[in-house]
Amino acid sequence: MTWEIHDEARQLIALGEGLSDERQAWLQAHLQECVACRDYEEAAGRVVRELRSQPLAADSRLVRTTQMRVRFHASRLRETRERMWLVGMACLGVGLSATLTAPLLWRLFAWMGERVGVASSIWQASFFFRCAARIRYSHRPRT
Ligand SMILES: [Zn+2]
Repeated sequence: MTWEIHDEARQLIALGEGLSDERQAWLQAHLQECVACRDYEEAAGRVVRELRSQPLAADSRLVRTTQMRVRFHASRLRETRERMWLVGMACLGVGLSATLTAPLLWRLFAWMGERVGVASSIWQASFFFRCAARIRYSHRPRT
């Protein structure tokens, strides 16, 4: 047998429970014929049983600190979720307002273009620059 087979067997032993049926069957077959890996499995089992038999108790300060951090993290998650909801509502509001005001603004620019007597391409270009400036201003980071 090669070392790779023993290494694979020991990795499967380290994974413990939760192996697929195929892997479990391969490991059991290997353990039947390999004394070294069987000893390794028994030693690993002893260590796991020892660890499970030891009561783990955290002191009250550790518990308080952990609870405080978990609550702090939960509140930050909640705040982030609320902020994202507000951002979503603001985006919806901006989209609706742009949808409603763009036709009116288009008519206003057309009317002003006629009153001043400029070519339609000029007031149309002005309209698009105005819209682009508004979009650019709304995406500017706040300081
Ligand atoms: Zn082996």
